[in-house]
Amino acid sequence: MSRGTVLVTGITGFIATHTALAFLDAGYSVKGTTRTAAKAEDWISRFPTHRARFQYAVVADMATCNAFDEAVKGCDFIAHLASPAHWNQNDNETDLLIPAINGTKNLLSATKNEPRIKRVVFTSSLAAIIEPTVEAAKTVVETEWNPITYEQAKFATNAAVVYRASKALAERTFWDYIENEKPAWTGSTICPCGTFAPPLQPLASLSALNVSTAFLWDMANGKYKSGVPTVGSPVYVDARDVALAHVRAVERDAAKGQRYLLIGGVYVPDQFIDVIHRRFPELRGNLPPVDLLKVGQLGFKYNSSKATEELGIQYTALETMVADTISSILALRKQLTA
Ligand code: NDP
Repeated sequence: MSRGTVLVTGITGFIATHTALAFLDAGYSVKGTTRTAAKAEDWISRFPTHRARFQYAVVADMATCNAFDEAVKGCDFIAHLASPAHWNQNDNETDLLIPAINGTKNLLSATKNEPRIKRVVFTSSLAAIIEPTVEAAKTVVETEWNPITYEQAKFATNAAVVYRASKALAERTFWDYIENEKPAWTGSTICPCGTFAPPLQPLASLSALNVSTAFLWDMANGKYKSGVPTVGSPVYVDARDVALAHVRAVERDAAKGQRYLLIGGVYVPDQFIDVIHRRFPELRGNLPPVDLLKVGQLGFKYNSSKATEELGIQYTALETMVADTISSILALRKQLTA
């Protein structure tokens, strides 16, 4: 028997696919939102054993008014992962800020249509906690907020700053709704940092990998032979840990009204290269020479123990995460070119 139906928004995404599978594995039914029916059919065709507990609703653009009014019907829980997760916007508002913020507003107002809903989990980000270009020295914890305003984000010229703002402002929208509307359901937010894991979502080509996985694959595929650029927030987490956090946030009373930072560890990109070098000798020709690898500089301070204490998340090690991701992409590449 199903433990209840979870609406997973943007189910065709990288983290949403892991999250939906974690809910299905835990005994829930899943209703995924996708932009088209064909995308939903493609998604479930990859996981045929779950078909009996899968359904979908088409939400072509979540920024449209009442976008989720039908989708929420029959659902007991919601995991809201859909959000533009890229840094290549043409227009700060229409491509990033409006879908992230109005998508969240539309989802939350739709919950009025379904009294069965008990818990809504919003997938936020480390980006909603810090703005690394101005706060590099802070110890990162859940109580901090990226202070950017809508007006600053609207006119920002750094694409990453706008993405980060979209997450902070959408998460604020979530908590403001709870504060002002006092819904019958309770809410939690999950704030992962850069997330990596085997890409399980439907992909027509490796050029369609999501942004974080593409960064790791680019390292293995020869883009950074003369050295990997530094990253703004040098921290990682495995998507399988993020997925489990969503399930636990739905299940545990302790998660009511709580925000969780998910960081598995600090890294320099050269550590990813080191794992690829040792575990995938056939890729060595794509990597910077190992004697150029830099270690150290792990100055980023954080505390992500609340998710361990309250949600029971035991973070996956960097070595496992990188090796699993690369081997699954190599298998996928073989399949796509077969
Ligand atoms: P993906 O790009 O893989 O997934 C994003 C999903 O959102 C896709 O299903 C996409 O649909 C959907 N979506 C985007 N815009 C709209 C829209 N306007 N209307 C309807 N659906 C839309 O991203 P990730 O899996 O990487 O990210 C998932 C969530 O996790 C996001 O909220 C992201 O901000 C957050 N996150 C990601 C991190 C990471 O390192 N990957 C780190 C921290 C947080 P379609 O593909 O059809 O466009």
